Amino acid sequence: MRKKIVAGNWKMNKTRVEVDAFFDQLLNSNYDGEAELIICPPSIYLNGLPQKSASKNIGVGAQNCHYESFGAYTGEVSSDMLKELDVKYCILGHSERRTYFNESDEEIGKKVSSVLNSGVIPIFCCGEKLDERQSDIHFQVVEEQLSEALFSLDPDEMLKVIIAYEPIWAIGTGVTASPNQAQEMHAHIRKLISNQFGNDLADKISILYGGSCKPDNASELFSCKDIDGGLIGGASLETDSFLAIANSF
Ligand code: PEP
Repeated sequence: MRKKIVAGNWKMNKTRVEVDAFFDQLLNSNYDGEAELIICPPSIYLNGLPQKSASKNIGVGAQNCHYESFGAYTGEVSSDMLKELDVKYCILGHSERRTYFNESDEEIGKKVSSVLNSGVIPIFCCGEKLDERQSDIHFQVVEEQLSEALFSLDPDEMLKVIIAYEPIWAIGTGVTASPNQAQEMHAHIRKLISNQFGNDLADKISILYGGSCKPDNASELFSCKDIDGGLIGGASLETDSFLAIANSF
């Protein structure tokens, strides 16, 4: 059985007071669903959160990190620093990082190796732009993203990776991929992993869907064979909608 996961990407949102209020509500919610919950707040709020949420088994993740362990990289945070705070996960290759910070597949690949070396689990994002889907090259685009950033990993490293398929045209737009479109891409991703690493390994990788996933569309998406949960942006900012999505399994 693959792990079911619902992860929240808060991006650059929330104040300290709002972070505490969210976690207090979440920790008092008696959630006992089958999906593991992960929250990825802005890095400045990470300190202390893994300890606070450990009793309820809620994972805490960063949204990015640098691939070097330390050095003259003003404004950056390394995966070793995340590990020191007991941060378990790190989102890498989010389309906003690719677009606004010009992150290439090569750089994202270095980040994946770096977080794995530090003992942090990467949540690797991939997905095509609208014009790439309209030109019918979306499968090829995602294949390139995966093969450049992940396919030189050792199988035991690959086994630790969580993948999030996030079609860029669906992120923050209110337009969701249809369950068929999402399932088709998830199956494609699993097939690519299988070709590279074998069927057994591919079967064990959790592939999350992201892009305007909400309480009213989550259960249809999560019922698809190759969709193992979601990476949630806007709807992860409120405890009620985040938990409603998590309870959609
Ligand atoms: C995201 O940015 O990872 C995301 C899925 O955002 P939203 O749910 O708001 O579309």
